[in-house]
Amino acid sequence: MIDFNRPHLTGKEMHYMYQAVYQKKLSGNGEFTKRCQQFFQDRYGFRKCLLTTSGTDALEMCAMLCNLQPGDEVIVPSYTFVSTALAFLREGAKVVFADSMQRNPNLDAEKIESRITPRTRVIVPVHYAGVACDMDAIMDVANRHNLLVVEDAAQAIDNYYVSPKSGEKKALGGIGHLAAFSFHETKNVTAGGEGGLLVVNDERFLRRAEILWEKGTNRAEFFRGAVNKYGWVDMGSSFLPAEINAAFLWAQLENLDEIQNKRKALWNRYYDNLSQIQNVSFSLPDLPDYATNNAHMFYLTFPTLDERTAFIQFLKEHDILCVFHYLSLHSSPFYLDKHDGRVLPESDRYTDTLVRLPMYYELTFDDIDRICDTIRMFYANR
Ligand SMILES: *Cc1c(COP(=O)(O)O)cnc(C)c1O
Repeated sequence: MIDFNRPHLTGKEMHYMYQAVYQKKLSGNGEFTKRCQQFFQDRYGFRKCLLTTSGTDALEMCAMLCNLQPGDEVIVPSYTFVSTALAFLREGAKVVFADSMQRNPNLDAEKIESRITPRTRVIVPVHYAGVACDMDAIMDVANRHNLLVVEDAAQAIDNYYVSPKSGEKKALGGIGHLAAFSFHETKNVTAGGEGGLLVVNDERFLRRAEILWEKGTNRAEFFRGAVNKYGWVDMGSSFLPAEINAAFLWAQLENLDEIQNKRKALWNRYYDNLSQIQNVSFSLPDLPDYATNNAHMFYLTFPTLDERTAFIQFLKEHDILCVFHYLSLHSSPFYLDKHDGRVLPESDRYTDTLVRLPMYYELTFDDIDRICDTIRMFYANR
């Protein structure tokens, strides 16, 4: 059986977790947390990073930092994970769903402008499959309407947007005012199952981010010696993970290049192999000129739901697990009666026709070749 996903272990996880335990500093914001945060700041030039217990928590911090008022609107793609929308809904905002592009599931920048009203405050681009949204276009709309941009970079570690205008290469998560990464076990690197990272790129949010992170207290300023006692100064929650999670994550970050190189080699193997099969009905993943590849996911899209169902079933019969992905949020049981009734055809098309192939570090070239041969058989039998 070829699994759909398996979390990767570099081998150093237990060592660092052991170290964290024996340092007798088990709660959050210790040495390993600082090391992980510094890693992202140094490697990608992010202004300030704070580890969180999940990507969802990082998104919730972003939503809190946006300081939304009742009736404020936030533009979110419908084809995304629940947390992207939920984080803002919890803050009392109205979520306005926007459609994906025809070429890939990312937010269609050209359709955003028509969704903007005097109450719009935030745009939330999701870098689906880790592939960059059209960030020049999105930042341009945001700047013209004075909106905040929160990148849902949950899948986008170690990936870039290359500006067609300036040629500048910018790390995803470092372009919007705020961003969130996830270290869930299904992502390229994990913090031991659950984990996330808040990125603060805009100076205005630096102080409040630390306060929200530490249960609404100015504890961080106290430990820096900036104030002589700390207390309750704002809203907040317990967003910081325990040190053993940060220790686990550190073992992965230390090996990030190796993890990424392996994943990219597997991804390219799929791409090269599948592009040679004749007369197929699927489309290969789209990588725009402005996007680099972090090999988070390898997905195919089919012309119809029936064909996708037959495909998943055929591979399952050959011991290969493939899965579909999101269901449009605008027509979910929870949001349907809150949605304004607009049809979002691309989001619904990806809901029905997108399938993800196995993609994880432990896969071998042989596994990939077997998967591709099975896909050949699927077409030979039709
Ligand atoms: C994984 C994911 C999240 C949530 O991250 P968790 O760490 O599981 O809370 C949010 N948005 C997207 C696009 C994701 O892929």
